[in-house]
Amino acid sequence: ANRKFHPADSSIDCGFGVHIGAGEFQVIAGPCSVEGENLIRIARQVKEAGATMLRGGAYKPRTSPYAYQGMGPAGLDLLCEAREELKMPIVTEIMDPRDIDVFLEKKIDVMQIGARNAQNFPLLKEVGKTKTPVLLKRGMSGTIDELLMAAEYIMSEGNDNVILCERGIRTFETRTRNTFDLNAVPVLHYLSHLPVVADPSHATGYTRYVEPMALAATAAGADGLEIEVHDDPTHAWSDGAQALTPDQFCDLMRRIALIREAI
Ligand code: PEP
Ligand code: MN
Repeated sequence: ANRKFHPADSSIDCGFGVHIGAGEFQVIAGPCSVEGENLIRIARQVKEAGATMLRGGAYKPRTSPYAYQGMGPAGLDLLCEAREELKMPIVTEIMDPRDIDVFLEKKIDVMQIGARNAQNFPLLKEVGKTKTPVLLKRGMSGTIDELLMAAEYIMSEGNDNVILCERGIRTFETRTRNTFDLNAVPVLHYLSHLPVVADPSHATGYTRYVEPMALAATAAGADGLEIEVHDDPTHAWSDGAQALTPDQFCDLMRRIALIREAI
């Protein structure tokens, strides 16, 4: 992952002609969780607004074991249906090395490793044995060096297709869900050739803060954004408090384009 050994920015091929990094900027959008038939509606709306990749969790790393855990393989199937209709890559979280076969069988375009598994070394090594691009999130209280070493766990097994993701870290601050470490964007670009995505949804935890921080991350040089979008946030099965509606997402995409032109 170190730029010393690879001075040029890496570009990761996510499928359907979508590349991220080395000047190419991509927006990953969709609901926190795959919930059912609303996925395809949300997917059409985010694509229409300009998102280039679809996200949605089928396996959810919930704090409480009694909270909604995700649809599992049926959720992956819904994502695959949306991918086939919309011809866009899908990004979805893998939590367990035992699920790698099903992810490969369904040809999931990008496997997300969530903050809670950022130092799950057996999982990192197993995704490292595939060639599937990995969106690797920073740990809940992870340092930048710990994120880079997690990337090394994947890359040292042979998979160089790693996208780093800043999603906020836990600090003493409680007014936001996490503290968005915007510093991480230029610091990661200085230290590493890998693309850097910012996730202002999890980094802030509140819909009202997602837009300003998405714009800030774009201005700071992020190679992409991951944004949670839901067509009925108050009834979302997870993370409704930080979801944008499709209309809000559409406005955000217009402003992102203006920032991209300006930098
Ligand atoms: C998610 O992307 O829905 C998620 C659980 O994110 P994180 O791992 O960053 O908390
Ligand atoms: Mn979420």
